Amino acid sequence: MNAAPDTGSPNSGSLDALDLARRLIRCPSVTPEEGGALDLLEEVLGGLGFTCHRLPFSEPGTAEVDNLYARLGAGGRNFCFAGHTDVVPVGDAKAWRVDPFGAEVVDGALYGRGAVDMKGAIACFVAAAARFLETRGGFDGSISLLITGDEEAEAINGTRKMLGWLTERGETLDACLVGEPTSNETLADTIKIGRRGSLNARLTVHGIQGHTAYPQLADNPLHHLVRMLDAVASDPLDRGTAHFPPSGLQITTVDVGNEVGNVIPATARAALNVRFNDAHDSAAIEAWLRRHFDAALKSSSKGGTAGARYELAIRVTGESFLCPPGPLSDLLGRAVEATLGRTPELGTTGGTSDARFIKDHCPIAELGLLNATAHKVDEHVSLDDLRGLEAVYGAALDGYFPA
Ligand SMILES: [Zn+2]
Repeated sequence: MNAAPDTGSPNSGSLDALDLARRLIRCPSVTPEEGGALDLLEEVLGGLGFTCHRLPFSEPGTAEVDNLYARLGAGGRNFCFAGHTDVVPVGDAKAWRVDPFGAEVVDGALYGRGAVDMKGAIACFVAAAARFLETRGGFDGSISLLITGDEEAEAINGTRKMLGWLTERGETLDACLVGEPTSNETLADTIKIGRRGSLNARLTVHGIQGHTAYPQLADNPLHHLVRMLDAVASDPLDRGTAHFPPSGLQITTVDVGNEVGNVIPATARAALNVRFNDAHDSAAIEAWLRRHFDAALKSSSKGGTAGARYELAIRVTGESFLCPPGPLSDLLGRAVEATLGRTPELGTTGGTSDARFIKDHCPIAELGLLNATAHKVDEHVSLDDLRGLEAVYGAALDGYFPA
């Protein structure tokens, strides 16, 4: 579905971050819908002289997703901005103070789905690039944008496939700024240089069903399950590493569905999520879980009816990674100091992002708007922050391509 994008403010001669952010928000690009957002970006970037490539990808069992790679400049170092135009659903639209796709400005803030995650940041980078080109038309190098429509959903037909396309064409990125909302309290207080990994595990314990009055004839899987869960919940995975907080494990559900009081159930299920740092990979986490479950089930089964067993289904949504502090994080740090007068922290907290794919191609760092209202009702960004982030991105481009 393509909404007709608003063709802009009266002064559309010079590119304004707020104006572009509003036009992007008005494209209802709820993942994986394109919603007109990439059309709009292609039009704006084309107008600035970028060569644009639309990259729709699909595979069986998934929705086709549209993506955009735009590059200005044919040689020199290629500075890339990576982001996504897809947004999460609005949730309860009636709970919003404004239309989630209306892009209204209320009390000095721009409201709408995607305002911070991350149409606002895309608009800031495009406006910063436009200003950079105005003042520095003949710079030696390339600026590119890697914009996917598939970040908030499965991330199968988005950034990962675009990177494959770039590699096939011999197109290289030399540094990549990811515009995810990394700021916690104030704009640009945090630059992310890595992310924790995430693993979901579903544990099923099989015992023997029976009468609660005759437990010797049964084998209660719940008694095993609670010990197995306790074993992993009570043993810290690590104490944190140089750039990461300690890994954490959360039990997310325990399901038996036993409606009666006199039956020992045959099966018990639980699920857990592990957020792990760079001391581990997902294979090590799985091995750690199995070791604890094996030991706990063995000790729990002592003297009971033999034969309890478990199954473990693992789904990894991302490995942990670290892009150690270096020239790119230094560059961004200096850009923040020069424009906002604050020194950002280098962090690794929060969920996963497409930086996990890009880090295999070039140094990455993530820097964007405040994450306080991301994915929430009344998502909004202050106009001051939009101006501030545009200035930071502009200073980063100036620093990367010294005159
Ligand atoms: Zn995002």
